[in-house]
Amino acid sequence: MIAEPLIFELSGVGKTACKLPKLDVPVREEILEELPLREDIPGFPEVSEIEVVRHFTRLSQYNYCIDLGMYPLGSCTMKYNPKINEKIASLPGLAAVHPGAPPDLIQGNLAILSMLEEFLAEITGMDDVSLQPSAGAQGELVGMMLIRAALEERGDPRRLVLIPDSAHGTNPSSAHICGYRVQEVKSNAAGMVDLEDLDRMMTEEVAAVMITNPNTLGVFEEDICRITKVVHDRGGMVYMDGANMNALVGICRPGDMGVDVIHLNLHKTFSTPHGGGGPGSGPVAVKRMLEPYLPAPRIEKESSGYVLNHDRPKSIGRVRAFYGNFLVTVKALAYILSLGPHGLKEIAEIAVLNSNYIRKSLEEDYHLKYASPTLHECVFSDKFQKQYGVSNIDIAKRLIDYDVHPPTMSFPLIVPGALMIEPTETESKEDLDRFIDAMRAINREARENPDLLKSAPHNSNVRRLDETSAARNPILRWQPEK
Ligand SMILES: *Cc1c(COP(=O)(O)O)cnc(C)c1O
Repeated sequence: MIAEPLIFELSGVGKTACKLPKLDVPVREEILEELPLREDIPGFPEVSEIEVVRHFTRLSQYNYCIDLGMYPLGSCTMKYNPKINEKIASLPGLAAVHPGAPPDLIQGNLAILSMLEEFLAEITGMDDVSLQPSAGAQGELVGMMLIRAALEERGDPRRLVLIPDSAHGTNPSSAHICGYRVQEVKSNAAGMVDLEDLDRMMTEEVAAVMITNPNTLGVFEEDICRITKVVHDRGGMVYMDGANMNALVGICRPGDMGVDVIHLNLHKTFSTPHGGGGPGSGPVAVKRMLEPYLPAPRIEKESSGYVLNHDRPKSIGRVRAFYGNFLVTVKALAYILSLGPHGLKEIAEIAVLNSNYIRKSLEEDYHLKYASPTLHECVFSDKFQKQYGVSNIDIAKRLIDYDVHPPTMSFPLIVPGALMIEPTETESKEDLDRFIDAMRAINREARENPDLLKSAPHNSNVRRLDETSAARNPILRWQPEK
């Protein structure tokens, strides 16, 4: 248990982190007098170096992170991110370059961006890529804007977007922000898009279908080629949410399935630490017919070298300052190059194996609503534990006592009491077994001592919170318990 005061409370008059040597030249007060200097910063903390270091190190221990232990947050792909990526991204020519530097001074940086665009096109089976969007959700919005621009140019803008009920919440909101009305397509008993339903709903009013594959149940949409055909036959386009590429990378390519536009989450599949609010990167990959609309500028290679082409009359415009989140793209490229084609394929193979190992090991302890085979994640529910009055939140909170980050909860919405688990490829068998043992122990506790779960966590810095008031009225100052 860490009780950490604010740094202001650690302050003592006259304490400093370093002492400068005595001046051996005359003081020139007049230089300082011309500057708009403050006399004092009221309440500015005065602390020694070791106090600063200990304060922030102790605070950092409040956080859970992938470098501490397993983080099986479904849909989020919280894989371990190799430190070599950080090392490369911290090279001065990459980290310290001025974002406004002219292209002829940053040819190497542009080569990195261009090479990554090519790799991502190859991995997804698409023709062209823009690295500008800063997150998955922004990639979705950009993708929908591209579809809208292309349809408007055809003189057939359309008004509707179809989205399965298993979609990530960002999908309907991106379509809505782009000006579309959203209609939900129901999943069938197998947890897949119902092809007959889709066929019926796919009218001439539908601009696009947004589909996540594998979907948020972890189920691969087996009918994907038939789905894209139905949509194309009626003049619509297919957007794929590619945030789940960890299950497919190196094995199959959305472009080959008929997808017209897809976003990737570099901070998930291509290894950048995330979860603290960024920075991320959500590149968009398209088929050639959507290329003219991609955000400007585009990086192009001419005989003289790389140039930034701003002359793009049909472009939806700029969606992000400068080059997107450049260092995230550097880490993605370092990751791809260090793994190579065979390594990339192994990501998906081991991610799927790990998830299925957990699913199989826990299927007697936790209810599975859908029996379909799953890829990189599996969604249990609290149905078995409900009979003892224990809900998914109690299970999630109790996992904290076992030193595991809780899984994603209550999502996807089509599974009541959902516990969505995505171990990723980076967990060892020993860590998976520790997780499975913890989940089994919690199931026993649900039967034998449900109150223990309902008041969990017991070993953490902060106990069970009223989550709504914790979000609305956060108490940021530590107070000794009364
Ligand atoms: C994470 C995720 C998103 C959103 O990505 P952000 O980078 O958080 O905006 C969209 N769809 C799916 C399926 C996701 O898992």
